[in-house]
Amino acid sequence: MKVVIIGGVAGGATAATRIRRLDEKAEIIIFEKSKYVSYANCGLPYYIGDEIKDKRNLTLASPEGLWNRYRIKVKINHEVIDIDSFNKKVIVKNLKDNSVFEETYDKLLLSPGAKPITLNFLDKPLNNVFTLRTVEDTFKIKEYINFSNPKKVAIIGGGFIGVEMAENLHSLGIQVSIIQKDNQLLKVVDRDIASFIHHHIRSKGVNILLNSFVKSITNNDSQLIVELENKKLEFDMVIISIGVIPDNILAKKANLALGDNGGIKVDSRMQTSIPDIYAVGDAVEITHNILNKKMLISLAGPANKQARVAADNICGLNSEYKGSLSSSVIKVFDMTVAVTGITEEVAKTNNINYEKVFLSPFSHATYYPNASVISLKVLYEKDTHKILGAQAVGYEGVEKRIDVIAAVMMANGDAMILKDLDLTYAPPYSSAKDPVNMAGFIIDNIENGLVKQFSFDDIDYLIEKDNVILLDTRTENEYMMGHAKGFINIPLDELRNKLYLLDKNKKIYVMCQSGLRSYLATRILMENGFDAYNFIGGYRLYSSIINDN
Ligand code: FAD
Repeated sequence: MKVVIIGGVAGGATAATRIRRLDEKAEIIIFEKSKYVSYANCGLPYYIGDEIKDKRNLTLASPEGLWNRYRIKVKINHEVIDIDSFNKKVIVKNLKDNSVFEETYDKLLLSPGAKPITLNFLDKPLNNVFTLRTVEDTFKIKEYINFSNPKKVAIIGGGFIGVEMAENLHSLGIQVSIIQKDNQLLKVVDRDIASFIHHHIRSKGVNILLNSFVKSITNNDSQLIVELENKKLEFDMVIISIGVIPDNILAKKANLALGDNGGIKVDSRMQTSIPDIYAVGDAVEITHNILNKKMLISLAGPANKQARVAADNICGLNSEYKGSLSSSVIKVFDMTVAVTGITEEVAKTNNINYEKVFLSPFSHATYYPNASVISLKVLYEKDTHKILGAQAVGYEGVEKRIDVIAAVMMANGDAMILKDLDLTYAPPYSSAKDPVNMAGFIIDNIENGLVKQFSFDDIDYLIEKDNVILLDTRTENEYMMGHAKGFINIPLDELRNKLYLLDKNKKIYVMCQSGLRSYLATRILMENGFDAYNFIGGYRLYSSIINDN
């Protein structure tokens, strides 16, 4: 069997080595158009920021290494320019000498990845405007920084790559501005969680320009003029990181079926619409397990798993890709942001009847040094208790909690089981009631009618009403240092003695710092015949959103 693989990085290299492990006799050829195979895309921003110092660490394998260990023929600087699926051959261009030749295949695997989206008004390349996808892009950026010593850089687009680049350029002493057309960075989380991220990034001295649409970029000497709707800004260098689109050029030439958003259509065995052609990675559309629809999910984990599935099926096994939750994690300076499943915004857009919990537990027992707060939000479907997604931000143990929830979601466990999970505990690592268990306890309380909630979006409406009481149960000092408009203060420990001050005919909306004391207050109130509601996320979340500008 002769297997030809197009693209030799996450999907391509993974599939190639798995094929070898399953079939010692197969002839395996990888064509990779760049100068590098099996490189660490995800590490590229950290090389620019000098976190990864040795450029050799950016490549995980070499053509020689793949030949010596796996007998895989790797042809770097070779671009596949066409596929003749009828005669089962690919047309290849050697980019070193421009010669063109044909290579036949029994099985073909496409893993060409995705291309950065560029701004459509940039018709000719500018030497100080960059995108980041490959090792070559990385060296170009690094060289420009070393030789031109830019002082001010604009990053257009505040997704994963934009935020990682902001951190890494900032660490080189460059003044960084992130320009983002939406009202928040990192759209993989909701606006409330994003507010914590914005505060953290701003505290490091990075400028964030939200709701800012770039209309043009022009070159004036070595200065770049970035034109927004209401102002023009000057920079020495621009990084464009506004997303990626699947590289489907070859797929189109080969008449492979494509999905609505341009990704190659594959079945759960990673087989395309043409027999013996498989495709994986950023170029394909895959099932999002929560939305239950085909989507583009450009992440390394899914690409690697799909590659294994494709390799199995190429070698005669029967493997299925189980879909993705789009789980991801990102380092934002010393903070960690992790997410799985869908956000509240996506749940709303898809008309899903959801419930949410938001909690601020400590990463580990507070009596053991250096515990830090995790902001954790979990969404579940009201009728079925299916977990829809979870997002967390904090400094320690953030991704662990999201991974636990993602594991429950992959196993189709419902939200009620979070309280029962038997998780590891010792003081340096967690609490006897782990944050994930705590989320489960809150869900259990909601579903059993022990607590009713209200959220940030309800506050403006509640302030206008006169048949409600807005109650802040923090200490007098905390209240004096800042409170939400319209809230009166009765500290939790005085509440039982002051119940007579409250009108039983009015609904009581209770807030505290994190949601715990207000929960205790709502229980006292409910047990005493009041109709009480607990504020999701506490004043901590409220003030983070209100002051996010
Ligand atoms: P790629 O790994 O991009 O490989 C595609 C290869 O195909 C390319 O090398 C390309 O040169 C080659 N190719 C394309 N067309 C042809 C052709 N016609 N002939 C020959 N070769 C061709 N994901 C995460 O999960 N976590 C992260 O932290 C993360 N960080 C990232 C940071 C950066 C800067 C980038 C760029 C990506 C990051 N990703 C991350 C995304 C992750 O790298 C991709 O999802 C993953 O690499 C996709 O694998 P792939 O095989 O589909 O494509």
